[in-house]
Amino acid sequence: MLYPTPIQDLVNELGKLPGVGPKTAQRLAFFLLNMPQGEAELLANAIVSARSRIRYCSVCFNFTDQDPCTICRHTGRDGKIIMVVEQPKDVIAMEKTREFRGRYHVLHGAISPMEGIGPDDLRVKELLRRISQETPAELVIATSSNLEGEATALYLGRLLKPMGLRVTRIARGLPMGGDLDYTDEVTLTKALEGRQEI
Ligand SMILES: [Zn+2]
Repeated sequence: MLYPTPIQDLVNELGKLPGVGPKTAQRLAFFLLNMPQGEAELLANAIVSARSRIRYCSVCFNFTDQDPCTICRHTGRDGKIIMVVEQPKDVIAMEKTREFRGRYHVLHGAISPMEGIGPDDLRVKELLRRISQETPAELVIATSSNLEGEATALYLGRLLKPMGLRVTRIARGLPMGGDLDYTDEVTLTKALEGRQEI
C-alpha cells in the first residue's frame, strides 16, 4: 500500500470515472486534498445531492428532480411531436436552439451490436407505450450520425412506420460521427428544419 487508505480509496473511486486512468485519478486526488475543506465538501455534497434527488422523468426518461419533468409538464409544448434522442445532454443541445417546441424521449443509449446493446437495453418499450397513449403526429429521430445512431434510427423507423405516424430523421447537416451536443446551434437548427421522412 503506497498511500494511506483514505487516499487509496479516493484514487480508486476517481479511477472509475469515464476517461480517467490511474495517473489522472492520482492527480485529481491530490488536487482534491489540496482544496480548502469547504470547497471539497461542496463538491462531495453536490454529488450526493444530485445522485439522490435526480431521477428519470416517467414520461420522457430525461433526468429530472420533479416528475414529470418541466418539459413534459409545460402546457405550451406541442404534444403532437416527439423527438427521440440518445442522451439527456442531447435534450439540452436541442433546447439551446429554441427551435423545437415539441416533447422529447430519451433512449439512454443507441443500438450497438459490438457492445451487445440491443433495443431491450434502451427505452424503446416505453416509447411504444407512449406512442399508443399520446398518439403523436410526428416522431423526429435525432440520434447521432455515427454507426450506432444510424442503426438506431433505422430500427426505430421500421418499428414505428407501421403505427401510422410520420417518422422523420434530422438532416445530415450534422458532421459525420457527430454527437448532438458537440454540434453548434445553427447546424442543429438546420438539421431540424431539413428533417426528412424515413
Ligand atoms: Zn419528461
